[in-house]
Amino acid sequence: MKNIYPTFHTIQSRSDKEQQLRQRGVTLWFTGLSGSGKSTIAAAVERHLADSGYYCCIVDGDNLRHGINSDLGFSAAEREENIRRTAEICRLMTQNGIIAIASLVSPTEQMRELARTIIGSSDFIEIYISTPLAECEARDVKGLYAAARRGEITDFTGISAPFEPPMHPDITIDTTGTTAVSCAEQIIQTIKSRIEYEL
Ligand code: ADP
Repeated sequence: MKNIYPTFHTIQSRSDKEQQLRQRGVTLWFTGLSGSGKSTIAAAVERHLADSGYYCCIVDGDNLRHGINSDLGFSAAEREENIRRTAEICRLMTQNGIIAIASLVSPTEQMRELARTIIGSSDFIEIYISTPLAECEARDVKGLYAAARRGEITDFTGISAPFEPPMHPDITIDTTGTTAVSCAEQIIQTIKSRIEYEL
């Protein structure tokens, strides 16, 4: 790009940051239907990791849509831009040793591949919250399914827009009949070796 002079060589390296934080940076990318439990489990994972001395940051899709992504709607192109920006934020955090916990519906394989490519596959852990549509709709925490059924929301994932289950997620969790804390514990057990700091 013209007239842009990156200064990557003058700033602290990733390993400096990881040494400082005594952890390895990684992105935990939660995908699944609205109401499947992504945000609730992400918060439980953060709490659990924070209690064990890890430094995390939740990157919640809904929250970002109030700020940096407030100019984006739900067309395919805007959803993709939403993912691109979110993945860039996660990449920045991960490169600085932070455990980024991203929670977005990210309904298509293509979107998740975009995120994986931006973040880097070795730093990207895909967590599929596979709670079935019927259970998500029964919970209807935000009343969005009812609104989508009434036709008040168009392109609603699971009702009027597709959700493609991930083909090779690192972790799959169906929250039906279990608690968010036990789901979080399962996740932490699986990712522990990826975040532990060793000299
Ligand atoms: P999402 O972020 O996927 O849209 P939310 O976390 O906002 O979903 O909502 C999930 C809802 O499901 C919450 O009301 C939560 O209390 C409920 N729930 C019931 N069981 C679980 C579980 N095992 N894990 C996570 N959420 C659960």
